[in-house]
Amino acid sequence: MTELRDIAQLGAKVLRQYAEPVTDVLKPEIQQIIAALRTTLASTQGVGIAAPQISESKQIIIVASRPTVRYPSAPFMPATVMINPSFEALSEVKEKAWEGCLSVPSIRALVPRYTRIKIHYLDEQGNKQTAELNDFVARVFQHEFDHLQGKVFLDRVENNQDIFAESEYLKVV
Ligand code: ZN
Repeated sequence: MTELRDIAQLGAKVLRQYAEPVTDVLKPEIQQIIAALRTTLASTQGVGIAAPQISESKQIIIVASRPTVRYPSAPFMPATVMINPSFEALSEVKEKAWEGCLSVPSIRALVPRYTRIKIHYLDEQGNKQTAELNDFVARVFQHEFDHLQGKVFLDRVENNQDIFAESEYLKVV
């Protein structure tokens, strides 16, 4: 079976469910999902992916900020697997910036997100990790975290006028 999976598209039930926490990170089934997420993300221009996007309702995300055609100014970081993630805001400040989603093709929207957060997660060996994230990477984390709660970025948009077709978005950035 190939590890390259189809991306669940908006309207699919799996994108609207609360994803199950992972109880045993080292279980082969979980490691297979991680491998499939890595392969599938690498085949796209995305900077993050969540397990529900490959139709696996588990609390697993990958954050992989890197400059791409979709996000030319994104900072580079190694693709980081985060299991059972949680976060707290380190400041109440939110900023609006453009987001898109592999599950919502051809749409971009301005989404408010916390700019400074502290995150907690298990890495793919099952070790507890914490980190502080800022700005773009914090945004990617919050976007992927939302997927585990059954939310998509459009749910966070403050005004429908902040939703653009990608062709119009390209004219304004
Ligand atoms: Zn997404």
